[in-house]
Amino acid sequence: MKHACKHVARLTSDSFERQLSLLEQMQLKLHLAMCGLCRNYHQSIKTMEHVFVYIREHDLKKDDQLSNESKKSILYRLKKEKMKDAGMHKNH
Ligand SMILES: [Zn+2]
Repeated sequence: MKHACKHVARLTSDSFERQLSLLEQMQLKLHLAMCGLCRNYHQSIKTMEHVFVYIREHDLKKDDQLSNESKKSILYRLKKEKMKDAGMHKNH
């Protein structure tokens, strides 16, 4: 279960950088259907994705580098949040 969650978290962040394969998309969907923790994580990532698209559309001409940096730092924060959740889960 834990291993699957890590795998899914990784697929979620990978989906920013590349197109997931059909198999990976299926794994992701299947796991999200069963796991509320990852569903929440995925949902917040998806929300951020919309924000990034907005930033990209409005900021690209100005400074693409900056947008990329803030994207990375937000993703990093989300990953840390996810780790905290997983830690709490372990200690219950
Ligand atoms: Zn999970």
